[in-house]
Amino acid sequence: MRIDSVDFFYVAMPEVTLDADGSQDALVVRVTADGHVGWGECEASPLTSIAAFVTPRSHGACLPVADSVLGERIDSPADIDRIQALVRRNSMDLLQAAHTFSGIEIALWDLLGKVREEPVWRLLGFDRAHAKTPYASALFGATPQETLEKGRELTARGFRAVKYGWAGFGEGTAAADADQLHAAREGIGPDALLLVDAGQVWGADVEAAEARLAALQDVRATWIEEPFEADEYGAYAALGAAAARTGSVRVAGGEAAHSEALARTLLDYGHVGYLQVDTGRIGGIGPAHRAALYADRAGATFVNHTFTTHLALSASLQPFAGLADHRICEFPAEPRQLAIDLTRDHLPIVDGELTLPDAPGLGVEVDQEALVTYRRDVEILVDGEVLFAAPEPRAVTAAAR
Ligand SMILES: [Mg+2]
Repeated sequence: MRIDSVDFFYVAMPEVTLDADGSQDALVVRVTADGHVGWGECEASPLTSIAAFVTPRSHGACLPVADSVLGERIDSPADIDRIQALVRRNSMDLLQAAHTFSGIEIALWDLLGKVREEPVWRLLGFDRAHAKTPYASALFGATPQETLEKGRELTARGFRAVKYGWAGFGEGTAAADADQLHAAREGIGPDALLLVDAGQVWGADVEAAEARLAALQDVRATWIEEPFEADEYGAYAALGAAAARTGSVRVAGGEAAHSEALARTLLDYGHVGYLQVDTGRIGGIGPAHRAALYADRAGATFVNHTFTTHLALSASLQPFAGLADHRICEFPAEPRQLAIDLTRDHLPIVDGELTLPDAPGLGVEVDQEALVTYRRDVEILVDGEVLFAAPEPRAVTAAAR
């Protein structure tokens, strides 16, 4: 098969707010090869990622992603790795390339899985998909009382693990954060896992993070996620060492990694206990899979990062589906309507557990009507030439699934 086309669908809610909620817009990718179709999603700023696909070349090592993808052969997983290497070589100076290619890479796995009538996890070499324990990913409430009520709601929905984050956590006093943490624990009850996401709030300030360790330990938090900017490896290592002295809370991070090497570096030098990888950013399913195996060998736990649709959720789970000991998985619990509407299928939680389906490709069908409903009309012109035009809604609905 040869890659005939790559189409990008930029969709968004009518209003995009300042909430730290990545489900307010999305960039969905459709790849076709010899009449076969695969779908993927980038975890990225949509317009800049489209631009990276079509931009005029700047020089010989700064080519548009399209130049390494269109017309390439796609017959096996090895071809996906080969195309990835081409993108990395030809677009080494185009920083958005990894984000753009991630969605294409995911679509290529979906396409291959559909052609071979196998789930992606089997193409990766796993013999089965193990059940995971999904955690509800939510934002802290505006007040501790709201946080508490949110915890009650989420555990009533069947979640056995809840992650709170952002919404001002870490920006005020350590005492205010402790109030939020105790409210969170009270809301979810004594048995559910409690996870906390600091959203890089402390920059590289280890002392500020350490000031929260006692409260995190009191409420038996499993991890403190992204306490620092993504590449502050020394700060990650220092906090990890302090946390190990304090008790059982561990440091988590990795969602910002846009290459396998960055994920490995966070393990090797930041010594995180939980490595969280977003397939929509690291370069796709292949790099995420290799990062999962690396984390396993390093004695760390791999966790998916995802905050948008169930297409992205399925893609994020494939890379570690067969690793039985890596049980916790992220599950976007309060997505915007856009993220719900974009797929026809939704991965069900049964008795508090989530298992990937044994279905071809990603096993999740995109709802093409939703691509029309939430479509943003984009055109990129250079010297009067149209480099990109949003695919026409009618063409979308008529296209083969
Ligand atoms: Mg996070």
